[in-house]
Amino acid sequence: MSAANSSAGMAKAPSRLSKALLSVFMKRAVVTAIDDVADGFRLVTLEGAALRGVAWAPGQKIQIAMGSAFVARTFTPIDWDATVGRTRILGYGHGEGPGSVWLRDINIGDDCDLFGPRTSLDTRRLTGNIAMFGDETSIGLGLAFARQNRTGSTSCFYEVNDAATVERMNRALDVSNATVFERHEDGSHLAQMAGVLPELVRAGMSFVLTGKAATVQQLHRDLKRLGVASNLIATKVHWAPGKTGMD
Ligand SMILES: Cc1cc2nc3c(=O)[nH]c(=O)nc-3n(C[C@H](O)[C@H](O)[C@H](O)COP(=O)(O)OP(=O)(O)OC[C@H]3O[C@@H](n4cnc5c(N)ncnc54)[C@H](O)[C@@H]3O)c2cc1C
Repeated sequence: MSAANSSAGMAKAPSRLSKALLSVFMKRAVVTAIDDVADGFRLVTLEGAALRGVAWAPGQKIQIAMGSAFVARTFTPIDWDATVGRTRILGYGHGEGPGSVWLRDINIGDDCDLFGPRTSLDTRRLTGNIAMFGDETSIGLGLAFARQNRTGSTSCFYEVNDAATVERMNRALDVSNATVFERHEDGSHLAQMAGVLPELVRAGMSFVLTGKAATVQQLHRDLKRLGVASNLIATKVHWAPGKTGMD
């Protein structure tokens, strides 16, 4: 099943068909903790019997139903305790779409239906140390990678709207492997991000590019220009202006 992906707002009450699909295809969980870690960011804990015994790998995604089986938004589990049946996501509310509204309005005790976890990024071909590029929507992925039992390390590079807020949050979450670039309207921060690539390439790193479509495409072009082989680059676009509910 593919969770459908567009709606201007949240469905008020699930239809009978939607309810049937939710119960057949989705895992029911309850919001058991919410930590407002920084302006716009919420660290959300989801728990439920349906989350027990689930095989999860860092980098996989879940899709959370926004009150209907036909509208879902995608998030990245930071960790997954398959014994207890518990996972956590770091959500960034950027606007008024269903995902942002859901994130802003949820309360402890609320039910939630989710689909997955499913593979999102294929990192199996990547070798050695990883340089992960992304934005506010990728910090959960960075935390998941940090928990991965890899032989190499991961360094993260994020373009963000508010660098001070994200740096404060990273300190609170004990993230010490991240460099933050504040967005500029003229896109000059992209040149700063691209500026770190040659050294990472010389160090023989693999690359994970996530976040905003245009940034992923630009960094991918830069890496190809620097001669990085395709098997050392994994990409996953999280959002693009004008598109809704990408998964
Ligand atoms: C594989 C994958 C994993 C993801 N993991 C996470 C995660 O762990 N945490 C997280 O917060 N998000 C994550 N995202 C992104 C998240 O799914 C989107 O930001 C979310 O769908 C936005 O939902 P919305 O309903 O608020 O906006 P939508 O209805 O999807 O979009 C409405 C408008 O907002 C714009 N928009 C969407 N996202 C952003 C943004 N981040 N900044 C500015 N404008 C935006 C769109 O272009 C569109 O014009 C992930 C996405 C993918 C594909």
